[in-house]
Amino acid sequence: MQWTVRLEARTSSGEMTTTELATFSRPAMIGRLAEVGLVLSETKTLLAKLQAGVLCGQVAEHAALCRACPGCGALQPLKDRRTRRLQTLFGTVEVEAPRFKMCRCRLTTALAGAVLFSPVCALLTARCTPELERVQAELGARLVSGRGASPGDFAAGFAGKPGRRAQPHPRGRPAARGGRPASSSRGHGCPERAGRGRSSG
Ligand SMILES: [Zn+2]
Repeated sequence: MQWTVRLEARTSSGEMTTTELATFSRPAMIGRLAEVGLVLSETKTLLAKLQAGVLCGQVAEHAALCRACPGCGALQPLKDRRTRRLQTLFGTVEVEAPRFKMCRCRLTTALAGAVLFSPVCALLTARCTPELERVQAELGARLVSGRGASPGDFAAGFAGKPGRRAQPHPRGRPAARGGRPASSSRGHGCPERAGRGRSSG
C-alpha cells in the first residue's frame, strides 16, 4: 500500500500550486507491529518539507506583494536574487530573498534606481523563529534544573537533535547546555527551487 502527501497552496490572488511532499509505502501484508503507521524519521522528514513549503510560499508572496510600488503601483525592478536561512522548530529552511530597486517615483532624480531593498531580509530579523528560541530556552531550563525532558520535549528533536534525551547529571549538574541553535546542518529549500544551488546570503 502507498500514500502520497501533497501540499496545496492558494495565494491571495487565487493562484494554486501543488507540491508533492512525501510518499510512504508499506507491505500489503503486515508482518510485524513495527510496520504499522508512521515512524519518527518519516514524520520528521515530512514536517521539515511541510515547513519548507509553507514558509517559502509565504515569504515569496510577501516579497511579491512588497515589490509593487506603494506610490504608483508599478513593479519595482529586480536587482538580484539572494537566499537567507531561517532556523525553525522543524528544521532550517533556505528562502529566496530578492532585492529590488526602489521605484523612481519614490526617489529624487539623482537617486532613481540606486536604492535597493529586500522585503525578505527586512522580515527575517533573526536567524531563528521566536518559537524555536522559546522551546530551546524551556528545554535548556529543564536540563539546568535537572528535571529532565518530558515526552512533549521530544519536539525539540525536530530542530536537529533527534533521540537526545535529557538525563540528570549524577552530581546534579546539567547534562548539556541549552540555548544552542539546534538546527540541522543542511537546510530545506523551497520545493520548487530545489537543486538550483544558489549562494546563501
Ligand atoms: Zn512608483
